[in-house]
Amino acid sequence: MADQALFATSTLVVNIVLARWFSVEQYGTYALAFSIYLFLSTLHNAVLLEPMTVLGPASYRKSLPSYLGRLLRLHFVVTILPGLAVGIGGSVFGLFFKTSVLPAALWGVCVGTPFMLFFWLWRRAAYLELRPDVALRGAAVNTLANIALMFLFHARGWLTPFSAFVVQAIAGMAASVVLMVSVRPRLQFDWLDDAMRTVLKQHWEYGRWVVLTALVFWVAGDAYYVILASTSSVNDVAVLRAIQNLVRPVSQFIVAITLLLVPWASARFADRERLAFRRGINRITLVFTAAAVAYLVGLAIFGKWLTELVYGGKYTQFAYLLPFVALTVLFVAAAEGPAIAVRAMQAPSELLWAYSAAAVPTILFGVFLARRWGIMGGALGLAISSFAYFAMLSYRYRIRLALTLPIVVEPDAGGFAGGDETFPNFMIPTKIGVSGSNITETVTGSSVSRQEGTRSSVLESPPAGPSSAFREGHTRVPVRRENLRIVTTSWDDGDRADLRLAELLRSKGVPGTFYVPIARDWGESLTHSDLRRLSVEGFEIGAHGYSHKLLWRLSPAELAAEIEPCKPALEDIVGQEIRMFCYPQGRYDANAIRALKEAGYSGARTVRMLATGLDFDPFEMPTTVQVYPHPRSSYLKNVIRGRKIDSVQTCLAHCRRLSNWLDLSKRLFDSTLQNGGIWHLYGHSWEFDEFDLWKDLEQLLDYVGKREGVTYVPNGELLQVLSEGKQASGAVTES
Ligand SMILES: [Zn+2]
Repeated sequence: MADQALFATSTLVVNIVLARWFSVEQYGTYALAFSIYLFLSTLHNAVLLEPMTVLGPASYRKSLPSYLGRLLRLHFVVTILPGLAVGIGGSVFGLFFKTSVLPAALWGVCVGTPFMLFFWLWRRAAYLELRPDVALRGAAVNTLANIALMFLFHARGWLTPFSAFVVQAIAGMAASVVLMVSVRPRLQFDWLDDAMRTVLKQHWEYGRWVVLTALVFWVAGDAYYVILASTSSVNDVAVLRAIQNLVRPVSQFIVAITLLLVPWASARFADRERLAFRRGINRITLVFTAAAVAYLVGLAIFGKWLTELVYGGKYTQFAYLLPFVALTVLFVAAAEGPAIAVRAMQAPSELLWAYSAAAVPTILFGVFLARRWGIMGGALGLAISSFAYFAMLSYRYRIRLALTLPIVVEPDAGGFAGGDETFPNFMIPTKIGVSGSNITETVTGSSVSRQEGTRSSVLESPPAGPSSAFREGHTRVPVRRENLRIVTTSWDDGDRADLRLAELLRSKGVPGTFYVPIARDWGESLTHSDLRRLSVEGFEIGAHGYSHKLLWRLSPAELAAEIEPCKPALEDIVGQEIRMFCYPQGRYDANAIRALKEAGYSGARTVRMLATGLDFDPFEMPTTVQVYPHPRSSYLKNVIRGRKIDSVQTCLAHCRRLSNWLDLSKRLFDSTLQNGGIWHLYGHSWEFDEFDLWKDLEQLLDYVGKREGVTYVPNGELLQVLSEGKQASGAVTES
């Protein structure tokens, strides 16, 4: 950490003193040349450093010194050749445009690059050997040498855009020597032996994506220096860079931490710890975004003063650009969690996607923006690009996560396979999944952990309905999972209006679960005899907390008080096992889930919407739609909060319909019919009068009820159907 800070400080100080000392034109030229150096450095990073960080610990843990020796040779190839190209290109440019300032600066890049990047190589190598202390020593030498030499050159009047690179090359070399003393690569002189070929092949295979990435990355960001230089003048480049200097510490801080976190994330990923991985990444995103926001606020308040202070009045009139330039940092910070994640997943192609998304605006309107609004256009373009980067990377990360670390399915404990299950009276026979083909993948995502001890044998069985008849005949045929089409409904809060709702549901043949709090302090609640009646009619009764308190950030004692008494109390009332719970207002945390498991519940329903998939944690049962005229934004918020890729996709696919809940419900039902899945309707009956929803609900139930090939179950039964599907023993067949 300390060496990262040192390095960032050194870069910043160098840039700031140069901005102060150089004329605007000189500084613009230097900044332009430096952006070309950065381009070479991203190439270097792609071919050497990035593959090395990943391959080093994975493939060369036992032979690091000779691996590093081979990288050393590779280093000079990938720095000297492109450097020469830049220098020669600069001279050609100078011949045509009769200028010597830029060509000199570009030869500076040519001379400086191999040595400046040399330091980067050994610094990364020190991390590979887990010796941050060594990296720190190197960074200290680099920083001190850089700053001391800059001041020396300035005092002597030697400082030019060219010599600024020479200074950095000397400092890089000095630091490399210090690092190499400790890291000790083993040099070999067999240039292209098999081992070297393997290294090249591996690095190329990993790095080729990063090379392309580097190219688009440069187009997305630094291309604006070139665009500005060509559309107006290098003076604009100087201004943009000078303003960016004030924002850069944050980006450098981010890059520095990335280095530290990738190995950690790689290890989590290698362990296949999905939850730990995802949580870690989320936490990183949060911390980084918060830091960037804090920085933005600081800039908004002190920006002008800071510019004045740093540049001694030179660039103060451009301080208004600061917020726009800083927007870039905000988006980059917000994307850093996913950026670390895809690196750890060894999926650098995802970064390519993201940078490509960022490069598109630059290519499309970069020149236009710069011509139209000059520096401001450049700053705006950078902000747009970084937003595109953030959006694309977050999206690709979610997809990648869903693909590579699917929700883990635990083998079912195998409780309820016996004959004591009950189906609601109106359960409609279905013809599901009796395909003769042998399906190996019959897993469902729900791992229902039933606790034998909680199954009370004194609970009276409900009257046997038609379900028991076809239950007898069910055979142990594997269920083709994609054929499962399930309709379930659930209704919260135990209001008296539930009785009217139950009537309606019964008449349409749709079962449901009523989640009732024990002590509710508003409205008119269902009585005990109401609950008994609902239960006898085949509806499921579920718990909804003792007092409808939000089960979020509560102490274990508070959680116990809200959760534990519900189950026995409701079981006493209805004489049935209470298996399901519903989180009041959908709020819960890991402690709440733990408390529910301890209290013997089988699952719990959330308020996540737009889900139709069969894979979910039983204690995070999602829903599909709520009987409620939500505005579009509520769905978006809900989906963002739920952070599940399937909901996001549903939301995108149906975004036109989001403003009409009835239409949305029907279309989602259609797609469930077509593709399989669960269609879960929920709502609060006490809202139906207020929003005049009864008619629409009736129409909807007409639409979804009594369909062939659909399994109609209350929530608890749903978990059971899924678990039976998983055991390949519960194929529900048509009698
Ligand atoms: Zn509620």
